[in-house]
Amino acid sequence: MTIEITSESAMKQLGQRIGNMLTGGECIELVGDIGSGKTTLTKGIAKGLNITETVQSPTFTINRTYESKKGIRLSHYDFYRLADPGIMADELQESLQDSSTTVVIEWGEIVESVVPEGRLRINFVSPSVDTRYLTLIGSGEHATRLMEGLV
Ligand code: ADP
Ligand code: MG
Repeated sequence: MTIEITSESAMKQLGQRIGNMLTGGECIELVGDIGSGKTTLTKGIAKGLNITETVQSPTFTINRTYESKKGIRLSHYDFYRLADPGIMADELQESLQDSSTTVVIEWGEIVESVVPEGRLRINFVSPSVDTRYLTLIGSGEHATRLMEGLV
């Protein structure tokens, strides 16, 4: 399933639609180059969860966790350029095991062994300044439900 997004606000809106469907227990892996819109989508996801706090890129802290008014936690990881995830891999594993937490991961290659098979994977391609193509691939109940909800 591929979705074309032509503006930053449309990317946030798509994120918001995903955020609205979250129940906790989901893992969403975002794959794409720098500037392809992964963090922008995550900001929309947070909005859909009624998170009022500003979502900032967790590049330097690796993880930022936000409490939503819906009782669902959003745990946002960014493993960009990390040579060794160390203790953060354990922290990620813990987040993934919490059924009231939704986990969003950027640059997850280094923690591939921890990222569950049953995730929603979104591949971002940026063919021009404002255009993004998002390809959604998923397995497992949560991913299937989220993809069906976006059709
Ligand atoms: P990433 O987290 O993938 O590195 P960001 O979300 O931080 O990317 O940044 C995306 C950048 O691209 C922002 O500066 C945003 O304004 C810009 N942009 C332009 N068009 C789009 C679009 N269609 N969707 C998302 N971002 C866009
Ligand atoms: Mg980012």
